[in-house]
Amino acid sequence: MHPTTYNAKAYSAASEKSQLASTKIQRRDPTERDVQIEILFCGICHSDLHSVRNEWSEFMAANYPIVPGHEIVGRVTKVGSSVSKYKTGDLVAVGCMVDSDGTCAHCKAGLEQFCPNMVLTFNSPDKHLGGFTYGGYSESIVVDEHFVLRVPSNLDPAGAAPLLCAGITTYSPMHHWDVTRGKKVGVVGLGGLGHMAVKFAHALGAHVVVFTTSPTKTEDALRLGADEVVLSRNADEMKKHTASFDFILDAVSANHDINAYINLLGVDGNLTMVGAPAEPLAVPAFGLIMGRHNLSGSMIGGIPETQEMLDFCGKHNITADVEVIPIQKVNEAYERLLKSDVKYRFSIDMASLKSE
Ligand code: NAP
Ligand code: ZN
Repeated sequence: MHPTTYNAKAYSAASEKSQLASTKIQRRDPTERDVQIEILFCGICHSDLHSVRNEWSEFMAANYPIVPGHEIVGRVTKVGSSVSKYKTGDLVAVGCMVDSDGTCAHCKAGLEQFCPNMVLTFNSPDKHLGGFTYGGYSESIVVDEHFVLRVPSNLDPAGAAPLLCAGITTYSPMHHWDVTRGKKVGVVGLGGLGHMAVKFAHALGAHVVVFTTSPTKTEDALRLGADEVVLSRNADEMKKHTASFDFILDAVSANHDINAYINLLGVDGNLTMVGAPAEPLAVPAFGLIMGRHNLSGSMIGGIPETQEMLDFCGKHNITADVEVIPIQKVNEAYERLLKSDVKYRFSIDMASLKSE
Protein backbone atom coordinates (compact mmCIF):
# COMPACT_ATOMS: atom_id res chain seq x y z
CA MET A 1 0.00 0.00 0.00
CA HIS A 2 1.30 3.46 -0.88
CA PRO A 3 1.81 5.88 2.00
CA THR A 4 -0.08 9.17 1.89
CA THR A 5 1.71 12.08 0.23
CA TYR A 6 2.05 15.85 0.28
CA ASN A 7 3.11 18.42 -2.34
CA ALA A 8 6.59 19.93 -2.22
CA LYS A 9 8.07 22.70 -4.35
CA ALA A 10 11.05 21.64 -6.45
CA TYR A 11 13.05 22.30 -9.63
CA SER A 12 13.03 19.63 -12.31
CA ALA A 13 14.12 19.09 -15.91
CA ALA A 14 11.57 17.61 -18.32
CA SER A 15 14.09 16.25 -20.84
CA GLU A 16 17.82 16.21 -21.55
CA LYS A 17 17.43 19.37 -23.60
CA SER A 18 15.30 21.22 -21.02
CA GLN A 19 16.31 23.83 -18.52
CA LEU A 20 15.51 23.19 -14.87
CA ALA A 21 12.22 24.85 -13.93
CA SER A 22 9.87 25.24 -11.01
CA THR A 23 7.47 22.37 -10.33
CA LYS A 24 5.60 20.53 -7.56
CA ILE A 25 6.41 16.94 -6.63
CA GLN A 26 4.88 14.36 -4.31
CA ARG A 27 6.75 13.34 -1.16
CA ARG A 28 5.54 10.54 1.10
CA ASP A 29 4.31 11.45 4.55
CA PRO A 30 6.92 10.06 6.94
CA THR A 31 6.41 6.36 7.67
CA GLU A 32 7.63 4.94 10.99
CA ARG A 33 11.35 4.81 10.05
CA ASP A 34 11.38 8.15 8.22
CA VAL A 35 12.77 11.58 8.93
CA GLN A 36 11.16 14.56 7.21
CA ILE A 37 13.64 17.35 6.49
CA GLU A 38 13.16 20.99 5.49
CA ILE A 39 16.04 21.53 3.05
CA LEU A 40 18.13 24.63 3.82
CA PHE A 41 20.95 24.20 1.28
CA CYS A 42 21.73 21.83 -1.57
CA GLY A 43 25.10 21.76 -3.35
CA ILE A 44 25.38 21.49 -7.13
CA CYS A 45 27.52 18.50 -8.10
CA HIS A 46 28.76 18.00 -11.65
CA SER A 47 26.96 14.63 -11.44
CA ASP A 48 23.67 16.58 -11.32
CA LEU A 49 24.58 18.10 -14.67
CA HIS A 50 25.79 14.78 -16.21
CA SER A 51 22.48 13.20 -15.11
CA VAL A 52 20.10 15.99 -16.13
CA ARG A 53 21.67 16.08 -19.60
CA ASN A 54 21.69 12.28 -19.80
CA GLU A 55 25.44 12.19 -20.46
CA TRP A 56 25.69 8.89 -18.57
CA SER A 57 22.91 7.25 -20.64
CA GLU A 58 25.00 4.08 -21.09
CA PHE A 59 25.49 3.46 -17.35
CA MET A 60 22.69 5.33 -15.60
CA ALA A 61 20.01 6.56 -18.00
CA ALA A 62 18.06 9.60 -16.82
CA ASN A 63 14.35 9.27 -16.06
CA TYR A 64 12.31 12.44 -16.58
CA PRO A 65 11.15 14.59 -14.98
CA ILE A 66 14.38 14.57 -13.00
CA VAL A 67 14.91 16.48 -9.74
CA PRO A 68 18.66 16.40 -9.05
CA GLY A 69 20.56 17.21 -5.85
CA HIS A 70 22.43 14.96 -3.41
CA GLU A 71 24.29 17.39 -1.17
CA ILE A 72 21.51 18.20 1.27
CA VAL A 73 21.57 19.97 4.63
CA GLY A 74 18.37 20.78 6.50
CA ARG A 75 16.32 20.76 9.70
CA VAL A 76 14.22 17.87 10.89
CA THR A 77 10.53 18.82 10.80
CA LYS A 78 8.95 15.47 11.70
CA VAL A 79 10.03 11.93 12.61
CA GLY A 80 8.28 8.57 12.34
CA SER A 81 7.26 6.58 15.44
CA SER A 82 10.30 4.27 15.48
CA VAL A 83 12.95 6.91 14.73
CA SER A 84 15.40 7.09 17.61
CA LYS A 85 18.45 8.98 16.32
CA TYR A 86 16.82 12.30 15.37
CA LYS A 87 14.21 14.72 16.66
CA THR A 88 12.47 17.82 15.34
CA GLY A 89 14.86 20.76 14.99
CA ASP A 90 18.08 18.73 14.52
CA LEU A 91 20.54 19.91 11.83
CA VAL A 92 20.96 16.94 9.52
CA ALA A 93 22.19 15.96 6.08
CA VAL A 94 21.47 13.53 3.27
CA GLY A 95 23.96 12.51 0.60
CA CYS A 96 23.79 10.38 -2.54
CA MET A 97 21.83 7.41 -1.11
CA VAL A 98 18.44 7.11 0.55
CA ASP A 99 18.04 3.35 0.92
CA SER A 100 19.65 -0.11 0.55
CA ASP A 101 18.62 -3.64 1.52
CA GLY A 102 20.46 -3.55 4.85
CA THR A 103 21.09 -7.30 4.72
CA CYS A 104 23.84 -7.91 2.13
CA ALA A 105 27.53 -8.22 3.03
CA HIS A 106 28.24 -4.67 1.80
CA CYS A 107 25.48 -3.14 3.93
CA LYS A 108 26.70 -5.11 6.94
CA ALA A 109 30.20 -3.74 6.33
CA GLY A 110 28.88 -0.16 6.16
CA LEU A 111 29.53 0.02 2.42
CA GLU A 112 25.96 0.71 1.38
CA GLN A 113 27.17 2.31 -1.86
CA PHE A 114 27.95 -1.18 -3.22
CA CYS A 115 24.65 -2.80 -2.17
CA PRO A 116 22.93 -4.28 -5.25
CA ASN A 117 19.67 -2.77 -3.98
CA MET A 118 21.01 0.67 -3.13
CA VAL A 119 18.63 3.55 -3.94
CA LEU A 120 20.15 6.82 -5.08
CA THR A 121 18.74 10.09 -3.79
CA PHE A 122 17.51 10.96 -7.28
CA ASN A 123 16.81 9.02 -10.48
CA SER A 124 16.47 5.59 -8.77
CA PRO A 125 13.26 3.52 -8.65
CA ASP A 126 11.20 4.77 -5.68
CA LYS A 127 9.95 1.73 -3.77
CA HIS A 128 7.52 3.78 -1.68
CA LEU A 129 5.68 5.78 -4.33
CA GLY A 130 6.63 4.11 -7.63
CA GLY A 131 8.29 6.26 -10.28
CA PHE A 132 11.76 7.59 -9.48
CA THR A 133 13.33 9.26 -6.47
CA TYR A 134 13.53 13.04 -6.42
CA GLY A 135 16.61 14.81 -5.07
CA GLY A 136 17.49 17.89 -3.10
CA TYR A 137 16.49 20.77 -5.40
CA SER A 138 13.32 20.89 -3.33
CA GLU A 139 11.92 22.42 -0.17
CA SER A 140 11.81 19.10 1.68
CA ILE A 141 12.71 15.43 1.56
CA VAL A 142 11.68 12.30 3.49
CA VAL A 143 14.41 9.73 4.16
CA ASP A 144 14.87 6.51 6.15
CA GLU A 145 16.76 7.43 9.33
CA HIS A 146 19.69 5.12 8.49
CA PHE A 147 20.56 7.43 5.57
CA VAL A 148 20.32 10.65 7.57
CA LEU A 149 23.59 12.12 8.90
CA ARG A 150 24.28 14.50 11.76
CA VAL A 151 25.93 17.86 10.95
CA PRO A 152 28.40 19.14 13.57
CA SER A 153 26.95 22.36 15.02
CA ASN A 154 30.08 24.45 14.36
CA LEU A 155 29.83 24.00 10.58
CA ASP A 156 28.14 26.58 8.34
CA PRO A 157 25.17 24.76 6.72
CA ALA A 158 25.74 26.27 3.23
CA GLY A 159 29.37 25.13 3.21
CA ALA A 160 28.57 21.79 4.86
CA ALA A 161 26.12 20.69 2.13
CA PRO A 162 28.86 19.83 -0.43
CA LEU A 163 30.53 17.55 2.11
CA LEU A 164 27.74 15.05 1.45
CA CYS A 165 29.11 14.23 -2.01
CA ALA A 166 32.26 16.20 -2.86
CA GLY A 167 33.47 15.65 0.72
CA ILE A 168 32.91 11.93 1.14
CA THR A 169 33.93 11.10 -2.44
CA THR A 170 37.40 12.54 -1.83
CA TYR A 171 37.78 11.56 1.86
CA SER A 172 36.98 7.88 1.31
CA PRO A 173 39.67 6.95 -1.27
CA MET A 174 42.30 8.89 0.67
CA HIS A 175 41.64 6.70 3.68
CA HIS A 176 41.39 3.55 1.63
CA TRP A 177 44.78 4.22 -0.01
CA ASP A 178 46.35 5.39 3.21
CA VAL A 179 47.10 9.05 2.58
CA THR A 180 49.08 10.09 5.63
CA ARG A 181 51.76 12.53 6.74
CA GLY A 182 54.74 12.65 4.40
CA LYS A 183 53.00 11.07 1.37
CA LYS A 184 53.13 12.94 -1.95
CA VAL A 185 49.57 13.38 -3.16
CA GLY A 186 48.31 14.86 -6.44
CA VAL A 187 44.85 16.30 -7.04
CA VAL A 188 43.77 16.69 -10.67
CA GLY A 189 41.09 19.32 -11.37
CA LEU A 190 40.32 22.08 -8.91
CA GLY A 191 36.54 21.95 -8.95
CA GLY A 192 34.05 20.93 -6.25
CA LEU A 193 35.62 17.53 -5.58
CA GLY A 194 39.18 18.68 -6.19
CA HIS A 195 39.10 21.55 -3.73
CA MET A 196 37.76 19.24 -0.99
CA ALA A 197 40.53 16.73 -1.83
CA VAL A 198 43.12 19.47 -1.31
CA LYS A 199 41.66 20.36 2.08
CA PHE A 200 41.58 16.73 3.24
CA ALA A 201 45.04 15.80 1.94
CA HIS A 202 46.47 18.91 3.61
CA ALA A 203 44.67 18.13 6.90
CA LEU A 204 46.07 14.57 6.76
CA GLY A 205 49.60 15.99 6.52
CA ALA A 206 50.42 15.01 2.93
CA HIS A 207 52.55 17.05 0.51
CA VAL A 208 49.84 18.22 -1.89
CA VAL A 209 50.31 19.06 -5.56
CA VAL A 210 47.37 20.46 -7.53
CA PHE A 211 47.13 19.92 -11.29
CA THR A 212 44.92 22.48 -12.98
CA THR A 213 44.11 23.70 -16.47
CA SER A 214 43.15 27.11 -15.05
CA PRO A 215 46.13 29.42 -14.37
CA THR A 216 43.80 31.77 -12.46
CA LYS A 217 43.28 29.12 -9.75
CA THR A 218 46.93 28.99 -8.63
CA GLU A 219 46.60 31.35 -5.68
CA ASP A 220 43.41 29.71 -4.49
CA ALA A 221 45.02 26.27 -4.65
CA LEU A 222 47.81 27.42 -2.34
CA ARG A 223 45.32 29.06 0.03
CA LEU A 224 43.25 25.85 0.12
CA GLY A 225 46.30 23.87 1.27
CA ALA A 226 48.35 22.92 -1.80
CA ASP A 227 52.14 22.93 -1.43
CA GLU A 228 52.68 23.17 -5.19
CA VAL A 229 50.54 23.94 -8.23
CA VAL A 230 51.23 22.56 -11.71
CA LEU A 231 49.62 23.89 -14.88
CA SER A 232 48.85 20.56 -16.49
CA ARG A 233 49.04 21.89 -20.05
CA ASN A 234 52.71 22.78 -19.48
CA ALA A 235 54.72 19.65 -20.37
CA ASP A 236 57.92 20.90 -18.72
CA GLU A 237 56.16 21.52 -15.40
CA MET A 238 54.59 18.04 -15.58
CA LYS A 239 57.94 16.37 -16.34
CA LYS A 240 59.50 17.66 -13.11
CA HIS A 241 57.17 15.34 -11.17
CA THR A 242 57.82 12.12 -13.17
CA ALA A 243 57.65 8.91 -11.11
CA SER A 244 57.26 10.70 -7.77
CA PHE A 245 53.69 10.38 -6.44
CA ASP A 246 52.32 7.93 -3.89
CA PHE A 247 48.74 8.77 -4.74
CA ILE A 248 46.88 10.87 -7.29
CA LEU A 249 43.14 11.60 -7.17
CA ASP A 250 41.65 12.46 -10.55
CA ALA A 251 38.51 14.60 -10.15
CA VAL A 252 38.07 15.84 -13.72
CA SER A 253 34.58 15.88 -15.22
CA ALA A 254 35.56 15.82 -18.91
CA ASN A 255 37.62 13.65 -21.20
CA HIS A 256 41.39 14.08 -20.67
CA ASP A 257 44.65 12.16 -20.90
CA ILE A 258 45.11 10.17 -17.69
CA ASN A 259 48.39 8.66 -18.93
CA ALA A 260 50.05 11.97 -18.23
CA TYR A 261 49.25 11.30 -14.55
CA ILE A 262 50.00 7.56 -14.53
CA ASN A 263 53.52 8.54 -15.62
CA LEU A 264 53.86 10.68 -12.51
CA LEU A 265 53.27 7.74 -10.12
CA GLY A 266 56.18 6.25 -8.21
CA VAL A 267 56.61 2.47 -7.85
CA ASP A 268 53.38 1.01 -6.42
CA GLY A 269 51.73 4.42 -6.73
CA ASN A 270 47.96 4.64 -7.12
CA LEU A 271 45.82 6.76 -9.40
CA THR A 272 42.18 6.78 -8.32
CA MET A 273 39.47 8.05 -10.65
CA VAL A 274 36.57 9.77 -8.98
CA GLY A 275 35.81 12.01 -11.95
CA ALA A 276 33.33 10.31 -14.25
CA PRO A 277 33.62 11.53 -17.84
CA ALA A 278 31.20 9.64 -20.08
CA GLU A 279 33.77 8.57 -22.69
CA PRO A 280 36.07 5.56 -22.13
CA LEU A 281 39.71 6.25 -21.20
CA ALA A 282 42.60 4.82 -23.25
CA VAL A 283 45.35 3.39 -21.02
CA PRO A 284 48.41 1.63 -22.49
CA ALA A 285 49.37 -1.48 -20.49
CA PHE A 286 52.97 -0.28 -20.25
CA GLY A 287 51.94 2.73 -18.20
CA LEU A 288 50.72 0.30 -15.53
CA ILE A 289 53.33 -2.45 -15.91
CA MET A 290 56.32 -0.17 -15.52
CA GLY A 291 56.40 0.80 -11.86
CA ARG A 292 53.66 -1.66 -10.80
CA HIS A 293 51.13 1.18 -10.94
CA ASN A 294 47.59 0.85 -9.65
CA LEU A 295 44.65 2.39 -11.46
CA SER A 296 41.43 2.35 -9.48
CA GLY A 297 38.10 4.00 -8.95
CA SER A 298 36.01 5.02 -5.98
CA MET A 299 32.35 5.83 -5.50
CA ILE A 300 31.14 8.16 -2.71
CA GLY A 301 31.43 6.34 0.67
CA GLY A 302 29.27 4.34 3.08
CA ILE A 303 27.07 5.82 5.78
CA PRO A 304 29.43 5.18 8.75
CA GLU A 305 32.35 6.71 6.84
CA THR A 306 30.21 9.69 5.79
CA GLN A 307 29.43 10.40 9.44
CA GLU A 308 33.13 9.95 10.28
CA MET A 309 34.00 12.48 7.53
CA LEU A 310 31.45 14.99 8.87
CA ASP A 311 32.85 14.60 12.39
CA PHE A 312 36.41 15.03 11.02
CA CYS A 313 35.24 18.24 9.31
CA GLY A 314 33.66 19.42 12.57
CA LYS A 315 36.91 18.79 14.43
CA HIS A 316 39.10 20.50 11.82
CA ASN A 317 36.55 23.18 10.88
CA ILE A 318 36.46 22.09 7.24
CA THR A 319 33.65 23.09 4.87
CA ALA A 320 33.48 23.69 1.14
CA ASP A 321 34.21 27.14 -0.29
CA VAL A 322 30.78 27.98 -1.63
CA GLU A 323 29.09 30.52 -3.83
CA VAL A 324 25.55 30.63 -2.45
CA ILE A 325 22.92 31.12 -5.17
CA PRO A 326 19.12 31.25 -5.33
CA ILE A 327 17.50 28.32 -7.16
CA GLN A 328 16.48 30.71 -9.94
CA LYS A 329 20.18 30.86 -10.97
CA VAL A 330 20.62 27.10 -11.29
CA ASN A 331 20.68 26.99 -15.11
CA GLU A 332 23.29 29.73 -15.20
CA ALA A 333 25.31 27.82 -12.60
CA TYR A 334 25.30 24.71 -14.84
CA GLU A 335 26.74 26.74 -17.74
CA ARG A 336 29.46 28.07 -15.44
CA LEU A 337 30.29 24.53 -14.24
CA LEU A 338 30.96 23.58 -17.85
CA LYS A 339 33.48 26.41 -18.07
CA SER A 340 35.26 25.34 -14.83
CA ASP A 341 34.03 28.67 -13.45
CA VAL A 342 33.02 27.91 -9.89
CA LYS A 343 34.81 28.78 -6.65
CA TYR A 344 34.48 26.04 -5.66
CA ARG A 345 30.95 24.74 -5.21
CA PHE A 346 27.55 26.29 -5.82
CA SER A 347 25.26 25.88 -2.82
CA ILE A 348 21.58 26.61 -3.45
CA ASP A 349 19.82 28.58 -0.72
CA MET A 350 16.51 26.72 -0.68
CA ALA A 351 14.69 29.64 0.98
CA SER A 352 14.65 31.05 -2.59
CA LEU A 353 12.08 28.36 -3.54
CA LYS A 354 9.47 30.03 -1.33
CA SER A 355 8.84 32.74 -3.96
CA GLU A 356 7.98 30.14 -6.66
P1 NAP B 1 33.50 20.44 -11.20
O1 NAP B 1 33.27 21.24 -9.98
O2 NAP B 1 32.89 20.88 -12.48
O3 NAP B 1 35.10 20.30 -11.37
C1 NAP B 1 35.69 19.63 -12.43
C2 NAP B 1 37.08 20.22 -12.68
O4 NAP B 1 37.71 19.44 -13.68
C3 NAP B 1 37.07 21.63 -13.25
O5 NAP B 1 36.95 22.63 -12.28
C4 NAP B 1 38.42 21.68 -13.95
O6 NAP B 1 39.46 21.97 -13.01
C5 NAP B 1 38.61 20.26 -14.43
N1 NAP B 1 38.25 20.14 -15.86
C6 NAP B 1 37.05 20.40 -16.44
N2 NAP B 1 37.10 20.16 -17.76
C7 NAP B 1 38.36 19.73 -18.01
C8 NAP B 1 39.04 19.28 -19.20
N3 NAP B 1 38.42 19.27 -20.39
N4 NAP B 1 40.34 18.88 -19.10
C9 NAP B 1 40.97 18.90 -17.91
N5 NAP B 1 40.39 19.31 -16.76
C10 NAP B 1 39.11 19.71 -16.82
O7 NAP B 1 33.02 18.94 -11.00
P2 NAP B 1 32.83 18.09 -9.64
O8 NAP B 1 31.46 18.30 -9.12
O9 NAP B 1 33.99 18.31 -8.78
O10 NAP B 1 32.85 16.61 -10.23
C11 NAP B 1 33.99 16.11 -10.89
C12 NAP B 1 33.68 14.76 -11.50
O11 NAP B 1 33.50 13.80 -10.45
C13 NAP B 1 32.38 14.72 -12.31
O12 NAP B 1 32.57 13.88 -13.44
C14 NAP B 1 31.39 14.08 -11.35
O13 NAP B 1 30.32 13.46 -11.98
C15 NAP B 1 32.29 13.08 -10.66
N6 NAP B 1 31.79 12.61 -9.37
C16 NAP B 1 32.08 11.33 -9.03
C17 NAP B 1 31.70 10.84 -7.79
C18 NAP B 1 32.08 9.46 -7.40
O14 NAP B 1 31.47 8.91 -6.46
N7 NAP B 1 33.08 8.88 -8.03
C19 NAP B 1 30.99 11.66 -6.90
C20 NAP B 1 30.73 12.97 -7.28
C21 NAP B 1 31.15 13.44 -8.51
P3 NAP B 1 40.67 22.97 -13.37
O15 NAP B 1 40.03 24.27 -13.74
O16 NAP B 1 41.46 23.02 -12.11
O17 NAP B 1 41.43 22.32 -14.50
ZN1 ZN C 1 27.81 14.39 -6.38
